[in-house]
Amino acid sequence: MNASVPPAPLSSDPEVAALLAEEIERQRTTLQLIASENFTSPAVLAASASVLTNKYAEGYPGRRYYGGNVHADRVEDLARTRACALFGAEHANVQPHAGASANLAAYLALVEPGDTILAMRLDQGGHLTHGSPVSITGKTYRFVAYGVTPAAEDGSGERIDLDQVRDLARTERPRVIVAGTTAYTRIIDPRPFREIADEVGAYFLFDAAHPAGLIAGGVHPSPVGVADVVTFTTHKTLRGPRGGAILCRSELAKQIDAAVFPGLQGGPLEHVIAAKAVAFAEAARPAFRDYAAAVVRNAAALAHALDAQGFRLVAGGTENHTVLVDLRSFDAELTGKVAQEVLDRAGITCNRNQIPDDPRSPFVTSGLRLGSAAETTAGMGEAEMALVGELIARVLRHRDDDAVVAEVREQVRTLCGKFDPYPLPLPGDPRAVRR
Ligand SMILES: *Cc1c(COP(=O)(O)O)cnc(C)c1O
Repeated sequence: MNASVPPAPLSSDPEVAALLAEEIERQRTTLQLIASENFTSPAVLAASASVLTNKYAEGYPGRRYYGGNVHADRVEDLARTRACALFGAEHANVQPHAGASANLAAYLALVEPGDTILAMRLDQGGHLTHGSPVSITGKTYRFVAYGVTPAAEDGSGERIDLDQVRDLARTERPRVIVAGTTAYTRIIDPRPFREIADEVGAYFLFDAAHPAGLIAGGVHPSPVGVADVVTFTTHKTLRGPRGGAILCRSELAKQIDAAVFPGLQGGPLEHVIAAKAVAFAEAARPAFRDYAAAVVRNAAALAHALDAQGFRLVAGGTENHTVLVDLRSFDAELTGKVAQEVLDRAGITCNRNQIPDDPRSPFVTSGLRLGSAAETTAGMGEAEMALVGELIARVLRHRDDDAVVAEVREQVRTLCGKFDPYPLPLPGDPRAVRR
């Protein structure tokens, strides 16, 4: 913890200051169960709020198009070196502004517009940047999609259908095969994808946006050294600043770097890159391995509690930080949209999500996605997750009863009060101002 972060002088802008103060309170007093979110350390916050935001640094360390990059170069080199050390990679590009830009850069580096890419379908757990028709990826490349196996009574279904991946690879001859998901609760073994890619002569891209922290923490198998290219976000389970990164073998380094800049982006966000460097060092500490293991245990405890309340768990449970709930078994009338809204009123923040073969639209959905990464950072354990599962069921069961919703809101406030992610004053913190 970095106690030297000064409260930012936002008094010059009371309007923004007030909004940020309210957001700090929201994050402190409500449950953060969005699977793609986390609480960064104060050190990560401080680095991303640093004067490096003032610096133009187009290019790469030692090859910049602007002067004055002596410190930006060292910061970016540190971030690259730490990323390589953390994941055992030969090359790292830490400039992608987000996971989406990292994926787009990977495609740009590996294939030509119109080429075929095999990836997971969005409604089966894939991501928009895996070829959704509304994404530039789906408009630029010819995506073919695989999905999961059918649901099974005993929970053994809804796994990535590797037979389908193999069959489609053989018939469609993709130039790239993508593994990686945004709403999938099981471990993804990279090796079968490697075998299939080798058989058809395709590149293998592993999008580790969600499990990057679980991989760094040693609780999920690493795709580094197995996949040709690994993209990830730094802000999900990895607990760094909002951003993306790419790892690859040395042979692909030039192609990947050229695709990020000048292919896709202009000047890198060196303040965010400084924060990424901080996060990579934090994730290399032994305590982060304990954190990653706790994230998985906590998700399992939450899943167990929800199962006991009558929610069907997609894929029969979880092996990562996410839980995907099929609401129809709990209440056939209840949609993801309504559930998300009523939980929000009770201070339980999560997102609606389609489940495999969802009959409802992506805007309505039959599912809820929950994650344990953020509240594990705040210090919650399995007992708290069991309570959270009960509170979720209670609110949804009595969703038309404002008194119950208000009661749960108070229980949530009390629980969050015991697990403050930022016990020290933050920049713009109303508690710091009160002192
Ligand atoms: C979150 C996510 C992304 C995109 O990350 P952004 O930083 O939101 O652009 C890409 N791929 C997968 C699988 C994701 O879950």
